[in-house]
Amino acid sequence: MFDKILIANRGEIALRILRACKELGIATVAVHSTADANAMHVRLADESVCIGPPPAKDSYLNIPALLAACEITGADAVHPGYGFLSENARFAEILADHNLHFIGPKAEHIRTMGDKIEAKKTAKRLGIPVVPGSDGGVTPGEDVMSIAKQIGFPVLVKAAAGGGGRGMKVAPTEADLMLALSTASNEAKAAFGDGAVYLEKYLGKPRHIEIQILGDGRGGAIHLGERDCSLQRRHQKVWEEGPSPILSPQARARIGEVCANAMREMQYLGVGTIEFLYEDGEFYFIEMNTRIQVEHPITEMITGIDLVLEQIRVAAGGDLPCLQDGISINGHAIECRINAENPVTFRPSPGKILQYHPPGGLGVRIDSAVYQGYTIPPYYDSLVGKLIVHGKTRGECLMRLRRALDEIVVDGVETTLPLFRALAREPSIIDGDYHIHWLEQYLARGDQKTA
Ligand code: ADP
Repeated sequence: MFDKILIANRGEIALRILRACKELGIATVAVHSTADANAMHVRLADESVCIGPPPAKDSYLNIPALLAACEITGADAVHPGYGFLSENARFAEILADHNLHFIGPKAEHIRTMGDKIEAKKTAKRLGIPVVPGSDGGVTPGEDVMSIAKQIGFPVLVKAAAGGGGRGMKVAPTEADLMLALSTASNEAKAAFGDGAVYLEKYLGKPRHIEIQILGDGRGGAIHLGERDCSLQRRHQKVWEEGPSPILSPQARARIGEVCANAMREMQYLGVGTIEFLYEDGEFYFIEMNTRIQVEHPITEMITGIDLVLEQIRVAAGGDLPCLQDGISINGHAIECRINAENPVTFRPSPGKILQYHPPGGLGVRIDSAVYQGYTIPPYYDSLVGKLIVHGKTRGECLMRLRRALDEIVVDGVETTLPLFRALAREPSIIDGDYHIHWLEQYLARGDQKTA
């Protein structure tokens, strides 16, 4: 096992990793920018190192500063959390070159899955169902129109280097294809320095369902069921739950086994998420995230498995916590990502938290790094915290969620709490009857303002 882990992240996920390290008896090193000197992860870690000024590129993404921090503190492993360097294959290789362990998958797997065209080809080869589309990237020279016609309109143009919904354009008809191609490619070039694009069938009302997997890097892998993340705004997840309100145990076992088998064949190491769109009973792979995800607590609540702790164990060469038949899904969990944003315009609202009262009680979990008197800096994401609620049934979970949302107090900054209070009382949500465009349509109607 590792002796000392450096946590190359901030906010709630840094705290989350710290907790797992403490339980495992591993010493911790926090790193922080000058803007985060008073942050909770810095206070709770055994040691801390300032790695640069506020902009992430000069601090949390600053590889030489992180290497120096490992050297100074004698850390033997680095946990990257999510975002920042978590899916940077080069970072994993540089750490290895310095005899440091990267707590994450093998660099080659990060690289393959980070390129969406390569990822899709790999998924297909491993027997995972993919969205019908062009077999690889499309170039202006070839007959893109005939490829698109073969797929059938509407067609979605996507960036190979895509992320966060950027470089994605729908072409509803043949007449829209050329413009969608050039817009998506230009956007991708500007955002990622790579204009490569590919085509996919555009699905009208799918759900976003993702499978959590865990591998030991030696051909052992299990799946831990699914999370339904269909409630999105601008392709960003807002509300996540598990199990999906619409998946049968048989369908779960089937897709879960397909994913676990693929990971066994790859000899995948660590935690990962295989993301699908799900429509008319069919799964369509869209991408794989090779890191711990924001919404991982849902899976922890319904399986009782500590994903971050197991991630650290397998990274150190340990075994999986159990075989597949040791995983059972108990009850239901919902997560709300509470942001410091105006709940109607979604304008960020950084600033000082004057009053803070987290909710409590049976089945209520808060993963957050804020405290009363804490100032949310303007430089990073606007996550105040994640409220995760568990119940024996989905009905009980919703009942408990409404109670917890009424109990929580965050004053001094605007938050998205009013939106969640409205969503938890919305008939379509209560019925589990929603898809990936539902939330944007709901917001466009302006219904939440009256809540
Ligand atoms: P990114 O890496 O930019 O997040 P993804 O491929 O994960 O891109 O897709 C993000 C979101 O975009 C999905 O959750 C879904 O809402 C939408 N999306 C992606 N592919 C399709 C598709 N083929 N049809 C309809 N919607 C899609």
